[in-house]
Amino acid sequence: MSDRYAVFGNPITHSQSPLIHHAFAQQTGQDITYDAIEAPLGGFEAAVRRFIDAGGKGLNVTVPFKTNAHDMADECREAAAICGASNCLKLVDGRLIAANFDGIGLARDISVNLGVSLKGARILIAGAGGATRGAVGPLLAAGAEVVIANRTVSKAEDIAALFATPRLKGMSYNTIDGPFDILLNSTSASLTGTGLPIPARAFRNAALAYDLAYGKGKTPFLQLAEQSGTALIADGVGMLVEQAAEAFDWWRGVRPKTQPVIDTLRTPLD
Ligand code: NDP
Repeated sequence: MSDRYAVFGNPITHSQSPLIHHAFAQQTGQDITYDAIEAPLGGFEAAVRRFIDAGGKGLNVTVPFKTNAHDMADECREAAAICGASNCLKLVDGRLIAANFDGIGLARDISVNLGVSLKGARILIAGAGGATRGAVGPLLAAGAEVVIANRTVSKAEDIAALFATPRLKGMSYNTIDGPFDILLNSTSASLTGTGLPIPARAFRNAALAYDLAYGKGKTPFLQLAEQSGTALIADGVGMLVEQAAEAFDWWRGVRPKTQPVIDTLRTPLD
């Protein structure tokens, strides 16, 4: 019988994860099934237990259950422990292990796929939610210097306090002091087509502006970057596929090629 995997969320119909993992399985010859499961709000843990009792080996987790996934795990790998959130669970000897691959997926997309070096790069991250919590560790580990700006300043400061390094600062949009090499939009503003109060000068001569949202075309953030002289703009589809590849490798012990899947999913930025 095939090994069972799934993505859990609510809603879940929009998820690209089944398409991505089916492509990985076909490419690597792995015999798995991968479903999209909508767990009821307040019913995530029970739905996961049912899935595991029915033979489930691992699962991805998306909005709004990433914190629940972290909380129900028997053990958390480092990134999940720091974030207090997990986007991936794996059953190992009857114990549930939590991981968070969002940050490593982002770092790989920037450095490997887009060819923009993180070592010594000065990075602005707009937003201080779950995605930023996941992103900071891998960006610092790659040698970057990171500034987090957020509407609710205390959340940016809290993340900076968590890592306690002079290479990470939290601040308000008003105190942003560019220029930057890389600017990341890790807010959910692009999901509603809303712009951010980042001054145009912060984008000048930047190597990359990257919106973690995907499939939204040229968002106000990416438009401002392009108009302000940033060399390269990208959305978060590569991050999505890279975090999936990390999960697939962790579950199956084989690393799929990501570029063909990114090419399939990428929508033009116009
Ligand atoms: P959260 O809900 O945890 O955080 C949202 C953040 O956006 C908060 O910092 C919030 O600020 C800020 N924000 C929301 N609206 C506005 C606005 N109008 N102006 C300024 N700031 C705003 O979301 P996540 O961190 O989980 O996700 C953030 C983004 O990353 C989303 O677009 C999501 O789709 C994307 N994402 C992409 C992934 C990928 O694989 N490509 C993976 C994970 C996320 P405040 O704290 O002040 O409320």
